[in-house]
Amino acid sequence: MYDPQIGFALLRSDRLALGELAALRRLIRDSLDPTAPDSPLRTVLKGIECSRSQLIDQLPENRLAELCSCGLLVESGQRVFSPFRAHLVEGFVIVTDPASAGRPRSTWYLDPLCEGPQLARLLIRRIASRGLDMGCGCGVLSLVMSSFCDHVIGVDINPRAVEFSRFNSVLNGIANVTFMESDLFNSLRGQEFDLIVFNSPTNKEGDDYRDLLESGEPLLARFFSNLGNHLRPDGYCQVNLAMNDYTESRFVDRLATWIRAGERDLRALTMVCKRHKNDDGGTWKRGWATFWRGSSFLSEVDWPYHLLTATPSPLELSQLVLRLLENHELLNSQRHLPQLTWSEGLCCILPWKQTLGLWDVPLAQVPDEVALLASTKPLSFSGAKHLDIWIGLCLQKGLLGVL
Ligand code: SAH
Repeated sequence: MYDPQIGFALLRSDRLALGELAALRRLIRDSLDPTAPDSPLRTVLKGIECSRSQLIDQLPENRLAELCSCGLLVESGQRVFSPFRAHLVEGFVIVTDPASAGRPRSTWYLDPLCEGPQLARLLIRRIASRGLDMGCGCGVLSLVMSSFCDHVIGVDINPRAVEFSRFNSVLNGIANVTFMESDLFNSLRGQEFDLIVFNSPTNKEGDDYRDLLESGEPLLARFFSNLGNHLRPDGYCQVNLAMNDYTESRFVDRLATWIRAGERDLRALTMVCKRHKNDDGGTWKRGWATFWRGSSFLSEVDWPYHLLTATPSPLELSQLVLRLLENHELLNSQRHLPQLTWSEGLCCILPWKQTLGLWDVPLAQVPDEVALLASTKPLSFSGAKHLDIWIGLCLQKGLLGVL
């Protein structure tokens, strides 16, 4: 599994001295804390080598030996470096590979947390019994899910990812997560989950397979045609994905085909954070899609969640995501609003002063082809009554409709 020719090192969770773990964890966590002053350990875990004597000033020698024994640090003469990077995500210490910065990537290369921490903030945080982290990578989403799911399974086709996830769970003292190798759902036959999360390895490649982090659309086809068999009746699935609309074929139509192939009805709401036109006249989009059971509808909102600041807490964001889903259920049940399905138009929700709810937005900033849902002040969507008032307001202002 470890290929010395590739030069990718492994972490050894079995070398972590279990009795000493809490102290080790505290030491790493404290040095990564953004408010803490710079320290030799923080420097080395961020990728800059330092001298052994500097480190020994900060930590006892046996601790340094422990960090070297598990592979997190490497001693080379009087210098110490780390082949990995450590991050602090929602209080968890997460070790993964460094960003590859254009270097060719090995098959076993792990996602260096390109989007994981941001996606973690968009998770639906209901108390859940069973969670699944598909393509767990270094295990970042599994660990975050472990705080609101009774039990989490993280799977990855990359055995090195499984090892890293185990290491991170042991390092953080998290016992309610299990990691295993699996090609999508293959090792999970007959198992159902309340929350399935997939930070999918898709980008601009369309059908091409490049490596495990750029796997192309056939992977999504397999995932979505199986999803219905693994989602509990009131469960949610959240997927980070790239969507390519070609002039002849829209992503949403292909998605509908995959879901239909699964023979279970699923509804979907995709929040699109980025979009741009391709040279061939098509469009590329990145989005966060939520799936749940119900007679099929697929809709989309533009929501630049990648611009979110730290202000809304993960819990507030989770409530917002749930509110958007509820809102869409209601809107779609109102027969007079067919424009909210993808085929008729788009609905656009943009942030306003970082508050939750719906946001006021200057019309001039909205692309012409987009239908806009907007209100002059944040509104509550706790009931259909509010929704009616709000829809009335939007219609009256000419803000809602097929443009
Ligand atoms: N969840 C992690 C990693 C996301 S990158 C994070 O958010 O940072 C996507 C992951 O999907 C990679 O770890 C890759 O190895 C995994 N993957 C790719 N193809 C897969 C397959 N067929 N089955 C399971 N996992 C797969």
